[in-house]
Amino acid sequence: MDLQLTGKQALVSGSTAGIGYSIAEALAREGARVIVNGRTEVAVERAVAQLCAASGPNAAEGFAGDLSTAVAAEALVRRFPDVDILVNNLGIFEPKPFEEIPDADWQRFFDVNVLSGVRLARLYLPAMRQRNWGRVIFISSESALQIPSEMIHYGMTKTAQLAVSRGLAEAVAGTGITVNSVLPGPTRSRGVVDFVDALAQAEGKSAEVVEQEFFLKMRPTSLIRRFATTEEVASLVAYVASPLASATTGAALRVDGGVLRSAV
Ligand code: NAD
Repeated sequence: MDLQLTGKQALVSGSTAGIGYSIAEALAREGARVIVNGRTEVAVERAVAQLCAASGPNAAEGFAGDLSTAVAAEALVRRFPDVDILVNNLGIFEPKPFEEIPDADWQRFFDVNVLSGVRLARLYLPAMRQRNWGRVIFISSESALQIPSEMIHYGMTKTAQLAVSRGLAEAVAGTGITVNSVLPGPTRSRGVVDFVDALAQAEGKSAEVVEQEFFLKMRPTSLIRRFATTEEVASLVAYVASPLASATTGAALRVDGGVLRSAV
């Protein structure tokens, strides 16, 4: 299937590694020009070089900056004013008992996981409206619907993304712009590999055993009983970004390995 992305300009926030990198890779492979983002020049340059080596010299450009800040977001839009496909992927997680989550953490999680995407959507929407075409995709999580008791502040941000995404889809009703959220389940990203390795070391177990125990105890409803790959998540995002997905909007789309138990 040709996803008809040739010539489209895409931006993927937080895309030097993990799910974001795989999304950038999938979009570039389908012909989009991708702006890669991470916080350091070194990481951004490395990702851009990898993508260009795989998909051609014009496949990717980079923007180094912390997109949880307004200053970086505004600098990004000055440099790249026209983005057809905005993927708000940037996100952080950290297990912490509820009683130990201070105000500052609640604020930081909101700023990084929610406000970063809200701000970018607000900045890029006027040009999308002018072209009467655009794709805004929020990378949320199964945790939006199944709030993890070990990181309620993270769950809060992922639910908030669903609210913003649905509301924005309604605000652009009748245009060629679609707005959706994608809900990955447990996915083997860099952040998750680091998390599993740290747990394995702390408990004196292998990473494989920790993974098995994670699915037995923490995510027993997973139907695939393994971490998804970042490429599996990226495939769904690439489709939603495509002109072919023009009737899919206002939706919360799962690529969660069946962790969420309801059928819809
Ligand atoms: P990751 O930690 O593996 O990678 C995140 C990327 O974002 C990295 O390139 C990192 O450098 C970059 N980054 C982090 N903070 C940044 C900032 N302030 N500015 C710019 N770049 C920044 O993350 P991941 O696991 O791939 O997660 C990506 C998204 O997917 C997140 O929104 C996360 O909530 C969501 N998600 C992940 C999982 C999972 O199991 N991995 C499950 C559901 C949802």
